[in-house]
Formats: sequence, C-alpha cells, structure tokens
Amino acid sequence: MRITVLDHGYVEFIEAWGGGKDARQIPIGFANDFERGIIEAARQSTQGSFRGWEQDSKLLSFLYSHKHFTPFEFAGMVIEVQAPIFVFREWHRHRTQSYNEMSARYEPLPDLYYKPDIARILNTQSGNKQANSVGVRANEEEVIYWRNSLTEYYKAAEELYRAALANGIPKELARLSMPVGHYSRMRASANLRNWLAFLTLRCDPNAQWEIRQYAYAVMTIIQETFPRTADLWIDFAEGRDHSNASKT
Ligand SMILES: Cc1cc2nc3c(=O)[nH]c(=O)nc-3n(C[C@H](O)[C@H](O)[C@H](O)COP(=O)(O)OP(=O)(O)OC[C@H]3O[C@@H](n4cnc5c(N)ncnc54)[C@H](O)[C@@H]3O)c2cc1C
Repeated sequence: MRITVLDHGYVEFIEAWGGGKDARQIPIGFANDFERGIIEAARQSTQGSFRGWEQDSKLLSFLYSHKHFTPFEFAGMVIEVQAPIFVFREWHRHRTQSYNEMSARYEPLPDLYYKPDIARILNTQSGNKQANSVGVRANEEEVIYWRNSLTEYYKAAEELYRAALANGIPKELARLSMPVGHYSRMRASANLRNWLAFLTLRCDPNAQWEIRQYAYAVMTIIQETFPRTADLWIDFAEGRDHSNASKT
C-alpha cells in the first residue's frame, strides 16, 4: 500500500511482524494477522497461547486500557517515506524508530521540492502559534508572490546543484545548497507501541500540518495492518473508556 502525501511525497508499507508462532508455518510475505504476537507475548506470563480473536479481543483491550504496553512491542512495521527534509527533521526526533535515509553523498538527489498550495499557506490556525504569521497576515496576492519566489529559489538551488555536480564538486559538498523543502527518502522501522506514540504526537493539531499529513498516512497503514489495536488507539484518542475491560 502506497499513500500519496503532499505534492511529491508518499508513505509506503514495506513489511510487518507480530504474527506469533503460527506465522512460522506461513510462507514469508503471506502472514496477514500481525496482532496475534501481542497476545502470545502477554500470555507468556502464564505460558498460555492465542485463543482466537473472539476471546482475545478482550485481552487486547484490557492490555491497552491498563497501560500494559510491552506486549505491543512484539509487533511492528517498516515503511518507506518520501518527504521534504524539514519533515524529516521533525520525524527524526522520534528516537525509538530506526532510520535509513538516501544519501546525497552517494547518489544525486531527485529534482523534487515541496511547494505548499495557496490554501495551505492562507489557512493559518488560530490557537497554534507556530502556524501563525509574525504579526501581519498575508493576503492572497502576497501569498502568490511568495510562492512564485519560492519556485524561483528552488530553480536556482537546483541549477547550482546540477552545475556543481557537472563541474566535479564532490557530491557530499554539492548538496550544501539544498533547501529544507527538498524531498528526501527513508525507511523507518519501529515496534507498534512506538508507532502509536508517534501518532499521538504527530496527529495532534499542534503538530505542523505537513508532518500531520504523514502521520495520517501512517495511521491508515496501521489501521490496515493492526486493525484491533488501531481501533483501541482511536477510542482512547477520542475519549471512549475501556477501563472496565476484563482479560477474558
Ligand atoms: C507539537 C510538537 C512540537 C515540538 N516542538 C519542538 C521544539 O520546538 N523544539 C524541539 O527541539 N523539539 C520539538 N518537538 C520534538 C519533541 O520535543 C520530541 O523530541 C519528539 O516529539 C519526540 O518525542 P519523544 O521523545 O517522546 O519520542 P521518542 O524519541 O521516540 O521517545 C519515546 C519515549 O522513549 C523514552 N525515551 C527515549 N529516549 C529517551 C532518553 N534519552 N531518555 C529518557 N527517555 C527516553 C521517552 O519516554 C519517550 O517519550 C516537538 C514535538 C511536537 C509533537
């Protein structure tokens, strides 16, 4: 599954784990229940096993609502992300994920730059200081002018970069002119507990709009891959109480 984000970005599902011991019988790449391993990990304390979702949905809910989060570390996933560098600067603060990013030291970067659309620039959110302008509010004409200037700026940056490569400037130095609106690509891996923590912080209205669009895409993939846990995360985010959930 690949989800388009912003003008040139995407989030793509690569792989998941959490199938538990029965997944060993299934050919690699065909397991599709990645939440059984959470139950198996929880039942390790009593040496029990997965009993089927009819019964074990309650246990999953109990674990989540009572903050027994370690079993959720026994499932996880890898995604590929294409995003502007400024989004990666925010994303890489999440230290519990593992990352590998394409490197302009080895490969010339693709000619892809983020240009926010006019509605995004005009839509300043009251109550969110970072999303607001510095005192004055730009009108549509000024926004169009700034956006056109940004396009020219990106063009100049790209020309400088290409000329540097053509003239034998080392790739690791030619990239110095790259603006943070330039797209990069990475793989990110984390266990499910930490993906949920990422969603809690980055789906929040206080997070910058751009990384929020990526977080929503990650959420869609989590809903597809770990549907029961995703429902629990949504219920708690929306204030629905599961605290009476029992284990059985
Ligand atoms: C809306 C928003 C605004 C932000 N603004 C800023 C800003 O202005 N400036 C800025 O610098 N950052 C900012 N950040 C980044 C923020 O401070 C965190 O670095 C980022 O959200 C990652 O959170 P985390 O540390 O919980 O995640 P992770 O690094 O994934 O860590 C997950 C959890 O593991 C534990 N953990 C991980 N590493 C350690 C450690 N070394 N010591 C102890 N416990 C650890 C903690 O419990 C932590 O919550 C902002 C984030 C958000 C969502």
